Amino acid sequence: MPPTKPPAAPDGPKPLPDFKQGWKPANLWLMMFALVALFWLRDIWVTSTQVQPVPYSEFLQHLQAGKLESIRIGSQFIEGSFKAPQPDGHTRIVTTRVAPDLAKELASYDVRFEGVVENTLLRDLLSWVVPALMLLGVWTFIAKRMAAQGGIGGMGGLGGLLQVGKSRAKLHSETDIQVTFDDVAGVDEAKAELRESVDFLKNPKAYGRLGAHMPKGILLVGPPGTGKTLLARAMAGEAGVPFFSITGSEFVEMFVGVGAARVRDLFEQARASAPCIIFIDELDALGRARGVGPMSGGHDEKEQTLNQLLAEMDGFDASTGVVILAATNRPEILDAALLRAGRFDRQVLVDRPDRRGRADVLRVHFKKVTLDHDVNADTVAALTPGFAGADLANLVNEAALLATRRNADAVAMVDFTAAVERIVAGLERHQRVLGPHERRTVAVHEMGHALVAMALPGTDPVHKISIIPRGVGALGYTLQRPSEDHYLASRSELRNRLAVLLGGRAAEALVIGEVSTGAADDLVKASDIAHDMVARYGMSAEVGQVVYERQQPRFLDLPEGNMALSRGLSDDTAQRIDAAVRALVDEAFTRASAVLSARRALLDDYAARLLAQETLAETDLVPLAQAARNGPVPA
Ligand code: ADP
Ligand code: MG
Ligand code: ZN
Repeated sequence: MPPTKPPAAPDGPKPLPDFKQGWKPANLWLMMFALVALFWLRDIWVTSTQVQPVPYSEFLQHLQAGKLESIRIGSQFIEGSFKAPQPDGHTRIVTTRVAPDLAKELASYDVRFEGVVENTLLRDLLSWVVPALMLLGVWTFIAKRMAAQGGIGGMGGLGGLLQVGKSRAKLHSETDIQVTFDDVAGVDEAKAELRESVDFLKNPKAYGRLGAHMPKGILLVGPPGTGKTLLARAMAGEAGVPFFSITGSEFVEMFVGVGAARVRDLFEQARASAPCIIFIDELDALGRARGVGPMSGGHDEKEQTLNQLLAEMDGFDASTGVVILAATNRPEILDAALLRAGRFDRQVLVDRPDRRGRADVLRVHFKKVTLDHDVNADTVAALTPGFAGADLANLVNEAALLATRRNADAVAMVDFTAAVERIVAGLERHQRVLGPHERRTVAVHEMGHALVAMALPGTDPVHKISIIPRGVGALGYTLQRPSEDHYLASRSELRNRLAVLLGGRAAEALVIGEVSTGAADDLVKASDIAHDMVARYGMSAEVGQVVYERQQPRFLDLPEGNMALSRGLSDDTAQRIDAAVRALVDEAFTRASAVLSARRALLDDYAARLLAQETLAETDLVPLAQAARNGPVPA
């Protein structure tokens, strides 16, 4: 459920009708009524400002009696002024004209006669108001057709044609956003990283005091439903600045040049209202790497739009106070040019929440419903591993619906358990939720990596362990942070690296008693390292110090690929290389198993903690790192 602003106070000013929405029937009737009223008023005005007309015969009598000083003749009326005021106080006289010949003839008889002014109101109406109304009707009809066609796929022939060049009202701009960082929970690291930009937006001048400038572009990266869009809006709300947002897919137009014009528009508007935030949601739709895929080379429009975006980003000064945010859940397919310095060079990871994070997210959404006192955020969080923020928002809503259906006064724990079951079924179809056994396997596996890394000397310290799925393939991850840059690696360091990679699988074999597919990625990496050791670095005694493979020189942005050039190998040599590679990987597995067996109690203890807590940060790991160093290390 999207965050909703508090409803406008009922006595607040009503929003003006939005005429861009097209003519509603109500508007049409209003127009018509106004026109009729206008004519009627004109009629009243004409008659009321003039002296009541007298019959023409009477006028003639005054004329013949020589009482009139002057006469003015119009097409319908004759107006005259008396020499002296009449007994009834009138100084003027008005009559309707009668054709002169007829008047002469009539004057000879003793008869009252007067001209009659025809009421032309109806004729006027018919002669031009009706055609105008018809035109309006036709126009409305076409406009509606256009809108309908534009809605389906956005490229209806006529509709699309008529809208070219007119920036469709898809650039959403909001000025008074009520969402703040408090509404986004469980993503504390991302919030911390964005806070600096918020300070900058609040006071761009003071920030530039020492000549520093902010990163222009920040890319929010994370799986769907983790709150990227929410976070972007919260940033605008927190800084109190206008928020211009557009979705990447909306840029992609039928006509070359329209998307680019839209980008120009967007930046122009933003510059005019700096400080502000520009937010491009689903950047991947727009910024897909150029020249790949089936449409290779054919998609001029997308390329132009992307180029315009890059040009605009390069073209403006970071000190103007415009921050460009973008969000994507597929950073790997983005065009490399987008990620270069001065563009989206800062990436902020918005990850799925761990158990504590989930409890925080739940607390945010609990505020919107009436809860029974048996409901506890921590308990619900424990039931929902793998849920992202949007799933949790959905869960709270589902539970509330269930409670409503059973006519309860408040949402109770039973509603949550029922709702969890329902949502998990949906998520499992998307393979996003692991069963309890799988989760334990992942925890043991990751703890295996970490423990081997901690036990072996000269390996990079472990920074974080998590069993929250990240990216596409990984079910969990262990982050090691290099303590310094490495340009050289010794043989023993590479052997240790291999052992760490095999640590996951070794732990599974040791604790679970069976290995799983979870190590597939580790094995790829380990085989690559071992292969390089043998064929490129001459680190195997059996094969010798001969290079059998050479890295092809790579130029800046050439797509990476397997560029290794193989020499022609004899079958015998190829066999010896394979055997040596295999020996290295096997040895790594044996070493990892030895490390772990000697620390079995630690492994079990911390795997259980990881399972319960889902992530272990560096601070949680200090005692483990110390304990791991005591104990035998295999040669
Ligand atoms: P994304 O853009 O990453 O796909 P959204 O920002 O659109 O996700 O999230 C959809 C909804 O899910 C939000 O409007 C909010 O109600 C809820 N939500 C998602 N993440 C969070 C979070 N971290 N904290 C609170 N609510 C969240
Ligand atoms: Mg989004
Ligand atoms: Zn692994």
